[in-house]
Amino acid sequence: MIDNEIEFEEGRHSLDKVLKASEIIKSPGIPSDSSLISHVIRNNIPIISEVEFASRFTNAKIIGVTGSNGKTTTTSLIYHILKSSGLNVGIGGNIGNSFAFLIANNDFDYIVLELSSFQLEGVSKFKPIIAVITNLSPDHLERYEFSFKKYIDAKFKIISNQTSSDFLIYNGQDVRIKEELRFRQIISSKIPFSNSKGNMCNQTYSENNNIKSEINKNKFMISLENLSLKGKHNVQNSMAAATVAQLLNITNQDLKESLSNFQSINHRMEQVLTIQKVKYINDSKATNVNAVYYALDSMKSSTVWIVGGVDKGNNYNELLPLVREKVKAIICLGLDNKKIIDTFSSISDLIIETSSMTQAVNSAYRIAKPNDVVLLSPACSSFDLFENFEDRGNQFKECVRKL
Ligand code: ADP
Repeated sequence: MIDNEIEFEEGRHSLDKVLKASEIIKSPGIPSDSSLISHVIRNNIPIISEVEFASRFTNAKIIGVTGSNGKTTTTSLIYHILKSSGLNVGIGGNIGNSFAFLIANNDFDYIVLELSSFQLEGVSKFKPIIAVITNLSPDHLERYEFSFKKYIDAKFKIISNQTSSDFLIYNGQDVRIKEELRFRQIISSKIPFSNSKGNMCNQTYSENNNIKSEINKNKFMISLENLSLKGKHNVQNSMAAATVAQLLNITNQDLKESLSNFQSINHRMEQVLTIQKVKYINDSKATNVNAVYYALDSMKSSTVWIVGGVDKGNNYNELLPLVREKVKAIICLGLDNKKIIDTFSSISDLIIETSSMTQAVNSAYRIAKPNDVVLLSPACSSFDLFENFEDRGNQFKECVRKL
């Protein structure tokens, strides 16, 4: 800002200066009910997000990815596919660089954006040519007055300006998305991805251990074995990314190669080490119940599960069957573990409370036997004991390496 001679202040907000603005770009971290923002709203000053602002200054074709889980993975995978096939493409938004930074410093033909509900709240004209909704499950409800509906409305703003030549790619198995599609007027072309073949003429689905995609008579198939990302949730992410690739006419050869050689991302089901035949997996980014559901679902051996942190209004009940089937011990890692203990004490004989990563990993090490898995998949955010989910995951990896 100094270099560009833009006036700024820090450490406080001068209301008189703020209220002179003709438009305000709000950082997604600032809640809409903060006192400053309430003043702005009362004065009828339009508030937009940085995504809306940046979209005014680019002609790049935008692929926008939102949803409750899988945004970062799917966005990164789409980027990898487009980049590997030689397109002039950038990636940003809720991952890496901001949208505004990307367009100020580059001239991309395509931009793949990860979009959080907070970023989408403040859009009015922003329009991706392809929107992807990975899934919808409760998350961040503390920011939406604990209303799932408000959270979903924010997510659906991703398609609010789409036209009939644009596309919405969505998870056709997701009950909540299907329900929303029934009553919302959708102008863009809808393309589902699903674990079974449906009756849409354009669709992507899994069948007989293959992903198959049929888009505009363009057919693509890849065996699940050849996907670099494993687990049912990643089949969904791979289907979403393959659908985007098909729409952009990426060749089958390029698409196959990219889906097979994509490197998985840190803190998402990341394999850390195997020690005395015990596998340690870092899924620190699993900050809600749905992500943990898929993590536990993909466990093939008896699991010591490290869970806990700041609860964002979780309902753990949907995990009960999986925990009963797969978890041999629960290690709570948080300042307040009551809800976890209350939910699982009836089905788990071994629940231990810890308050540091060293304690948690050492306890897991003592309990786990050869062929077991130790899984950090917390279902909660990390701010009680850690700086963020990366810090939590890095501490896990460090403690495992010291064993
Ligand atoms: P997001 O950016 O939406 O938080 P990530 O790709 O970072 O999504 O993954 C967050 C967590 O959710 C990780 O624990 C990951 O294993 C899990 N996950 C990834 N994709 C999905 C999916 N499609 N459905 C459910 N959970 C998923």
